[in-house]
Amino acid sequence: MKIMSVNAGSSSLKFQLLLMPEEKEIASGIVERIGNKNAEFTLKFNGTKKQQKDLVILDHSVAVDLVINGLLENGIISSLEEINGVGHRVVQGGELFKDSAVIDDEVVLKIASLNDLAPLHNPAHIIGINAFRKALPNVIQVAVFDTVFHQTMPQENFLYATPYEWYEKYGVRKYGAHGTSHQYVSQIAHNRLGKEDSKIIVCHIGNGASISAIRAGKSIDTSMGLTPLEGIPMGTRSGNIDPAVFLLMSQKEGYSLEKTLNELNRASGYLGVSGLSHDSRDIVDAAHAGNHRAQLAIDIQAKRIADYIGSYYVLLEGLDALCFTAGIGENAKEVREAVCKRLEVLGIKLDLEKNNSRGEAEISSDDSKVKVWVIPTNEEVMIARDVIRLGKK
Ligand code: ADP
Repeated sequence: MKIMSVNAGSSSLKFQLLLMPEEKEIASGIVERIGNKNAEFTLKFNGTKKQQKDLVILDHSVAVDLVINGLLENGIISSLEEINGVGHRVVQGGELFKDSAVIDDEVVLKIASLNDLAPLHNPAHIIGINAFRKALPNVIQVAVFDTVFHQTMPQENFLYATPYEWYEKYGVRKYGAHGTSHQYVSQIAHNRLGKEDSKIIVCHIGNGASISAIRAGKSIDTSMGLTPLEGIPMGTRSGNIDPAVFLLMSQKEGYSLEKTLNELNRASGYLGVSGLSHDSRDIVDAAHAGNHRAQLAIDIQAKRIADYIGSYYVLLEGLDALCFTAGIGENAKEVREAVCKRLEVLGIKLDLEKNNSRGEAEISSDDSKVKVWVIPTNEEVMIARDVIRLGKK
């Protein structure tokens, strides 16, 4: 069975075609700069990479046709009937969605009703969903929400201490994100621990980064909030900040609310502190070369990650496993080391030798009270699993 996993952004369309239930990637790719005359299509399959540049791709429908034709022309599928289902990543499901959902007109309307909570993401997802529904009208399409896994958070953990009416009228609360990844990684850790009441913290650290506390397989708290801006500093996001900065920047620089918000989302984090780059590889290299602000960018992030882990340790009443995942969590040993050395007071000890290893690994020392694992995430597989699960219902 072949399932397509799709992540549609405002000007991009990422996809992976998976063989299920084997969970093997058949092909993957991305269409970038949709809406421009210099769009690009990259298709990877069988160890080869094909790229088409300077394409005119006016909208997502054209991008979807391009992807499907690419699959057909390269013999990856011999007919459209071979695609048995499509799963769409959707960033915001609000309180409306407690599980993934088979897409129909009503589900699309519900996703659209949450646009205020995810103004950059949800409208783009809907464009992607509509394009695939048009291209593959007889195939099951499923929306898989980044927020669903965190819907088990108790009220005291997801409510802000703001006027209650803000929550009632406008849904102002923490929703979290990266739920599919936190669920995938914590399921592996939970099964490995082999106990019902497992206590797990997952650090998903990529360009976007979030930490979650998972007890007995359920998310009970997470660092991202109403939007992905809350929590720890990231590639370009500041993470938690005193909102009074909005007034100060308005008074000092005449910044609008949108401008300050944009700077907090796109010009902060690694990029803002170092003044160099949002990419951890550049930051680590510069820190090694003695760049103080690059080192500071790593230290500020590590400090704040450790703050979350400390508070989640208390919330979980202990900890069995600390898991690192995503681009930085899986690959940047320097970041893992910077975090873990702040956690020794909790009996969490890294084996520096093991921390050098690549891919899935146990990196804690034998006498660590808590297992520390690197577990590569796979959001695409999680999405494809849900397409199959809901297809059976
Ligand atoms: P997102 O999905 O949020 O865009 P990723 O999970 O792909 O982000 O993570 C991107 C980050 O991962 C970048 O900062 C990048 O430097 C880092 N990264 C990816 N591969 C490596 C690697 N081999 N070594 C160190 N860092 C890496």
